[in-house]
Amino acid sequence: ALDGAGVASWIRHAARLVSADAERLTRLDAAIGDGDHGLNLDRGLTAAVEAVEALPGGTPPGKVLIAAGRAIVSKTGGASGPLYGTALRRAGKALGTADTADAAALGDALAAALEGVRELGQAAEGDKTMVDALLPAVAGYEAALADGADLAACARAAADGAARGAEATVPLQARKGRASYLGPRSTGHMDPGASSTALVLRALADVTA
Ligand code: ADP
Ligand code: MG
Ligand code: MG
Repeated sequence: ALDGAGVASWIRHAARLVSADAERLTRLDAAIGDGDHGLNLDRGLTAAVEAVEALPGGTPPGKVLIAAGRAIVSKTGGASGPLYGTALRRAGKALGTADTADAAALGDALAAALEGVRELGQAAEGDKTMVDALLPAVAGYEAALADGADLAACARAAADGAARGAEATVPLQARKGRASYLGPRSTGHMDPGASSTALVLRALADVTA
């Protein structure tokens, strides 16, 4: 199970992975958007790490996620800030005030994150957004959980689902966000938000392995 410190490690590792890949994310966004996604999320996750590290020891995992989500909303520019912030806050809310999150609770939290992103962004599957990574991540997680997998294996399934989902955005035409302004010219590039979502879920798999 994940405790508050475990969730803090997840946020820190996600920040590291995004920072290491910020240039690639920004290049993806330069191709079909305004070229700031790597910068936006790097800044947001840096603020999230600071917020999480300022929390008292023993803070429950749900509260850690809510604090990280708030920091992201306040520091991340662009469409992705409110979307990522909502995802983390909803996930945190789903965990409530329990001291630890087991595999089932974390699955519910990921599903709540997806729900929050869909509600706020109104993107459907195939619209070439972060939903296209988050949806197969949740599906992969839930399928693994139903097979009796432990938290580490569920998280791996989520990360694999997200990575495949991000890859699958390449041929899609964007119907939401800035990339949709390009119409058919948005095809042939991976969606930056789907790609960063895959990194955040890879970070979860890494810290639970
Ligand atoms: P901006 O487009 O405002 O510059 P970012 O570049 O940080 O913001 O983020 C762009 C990413 O946000 C896109 O690649 C996409 O994944 C995601 N996104 C944009 N609009 C939506 C939406 N309505 N629903 C879900 N995700 C979205
Ligand atoms: Mg952008
Ligand atoms: Mg922007």
